[in-house]
Amino acid sequence: MNKVVPIATASLKRAQQSSKPARLTGPVRGVIAALRPAEPVYIIRPEIITQKAKAFMRAFPGETMFAVKTNPAPVVIQALIQAGMCAFDVASLKEIRLVRKISRKAKLYFMHTVKSPEAITEAYFQHGVRDFSLDTEEELKKIMDATGHARDLTLYVRLALPVSGTAAIDFSSKFGAAPEEAASLLRQARGVAAKLGVCFHVGTQATDPAAYARAVSFSAAVIRASGVEVDLLDVGGGFPASYPDQKVPPLDIYMQALKDALRAEGLDRLPLLAEPGRALVADGGSLVVRVELRKGNMLFLNDGTYGGLFDAGPLLNTRFPVEAIRPDGTFSAATEKFTFAGPTCDSLDMMAGPFVLPADIRTGDWIEIGNLGAYSQGMRTDFNGFGHADTVCLYG
Ligand SMILES: *Cc1c(COP(=O)(O)O)cnc(C)c1O
Repeated sequence: MNKVVPIATASLKRAQQSSKPARLTGPVRGVIAALRPAEPVYIIRPEIITQKAKAFMRAFPGETMFAVKTNPAPVVIQALIQAGMCAFDVASLKEIRLVRKISRKAKLYFMHTVKSPEAITEAYFQHGVRDFSLDTEEELKKIMDATGHARDLTLYVRLALPVSGTAAIDFSSKFGAAPEEAASLLRQARGVAAKLGVCFHVGTQATDPAAYARAVSFSAAVIRASGVEVDLLDVGGGFPASYPDQKVPPLDIYMQALKDALRAEGLDRLPLLAEPGRALVADGGSLVVRVELRKGNMLFLNDGTYGGLFDAGPLLNTRFPVEAIRPDGTFSAATEKFTFAGPTCDSLDMMAGPFVLPADIRTGDWIEIGNLGAYSQGMRTDFNGFGHADTVCLYG
């Protein structure tokens, strides 16, 4: 393990200068022993991401696009391309430019239902984007105007689904058209679109596979009511990752639920798309933080809810897997329950957990927080000056 020290340190220094993440091998403990990082560090495991993406693409009977907001780190996008992914769900110009810079060939789907006219114009004319979603008449008009009334568009009408209560966050209070409005939008879009699709999102971290079956039936009813032919069905994201207190059904069960519902509704010939995020990348990333102070069983960390740990905060209370790291020593076998406090001066920057860690954990120890490949790196803010985090890629 001593050998990894100079190599890793040199490699991180080089990486910081070139803004490309260092490529390391070996156990995380060795990496931390070498780096002794004073600031948070993401450990990205590209091989896990590649493997997850391949598994999803094998199981899903249609085109898989990665929802870029889940983790926009270039190494993540590259790992997905490595897996053979060629489609990406983007929501902003910055995401579009990011993917384009990495791949000229990637197909980009602009699946935010509220876009600026400037973003639509640049997406269409400079980045070859032809696929856009919408949930209002106003957005349909905006897309047509901003693309110079293009005739080669694929337009997706996004449906608002009835709230199921089985996802961590439902999106249908913010996005999607109600059935009658959606049927009317399908008729209007049919007149101007080269291809027409329906899309939905069952909510993120959807723990009930039946949510997809219900969404398919709901879509089928809207399509029937519209009286027009639809060319594509985009079943969105929401496929879950597994967290310590949440065992989720395997991917196959979700795919079977989808296939059964499509057959029952007579939609099984319709080409499909999916926009997974979390399910592809959550397991492929972790965040190493340092304990800056122990106050009873509250550990003050160098990262928090305004950094990479939003989901552990008061809104979602996700209990991520944790492992204590002390490179030059050992921990007691006894464990205790801890809460976390982030580095900012805000009391919302606290994470209730509880997180089970060695009873003798103390200031200066590190903690690897797992399953943070999703909804962490892209959500960091610089509040109170604590935004910085390094990234290293760990292989093998
Ligand atoms: C966030 C988002 C996704 C990805 O959702 P996951 O739950 O991470 O799979 C897909 N599509 C859209 C439109 C989104 O907003």
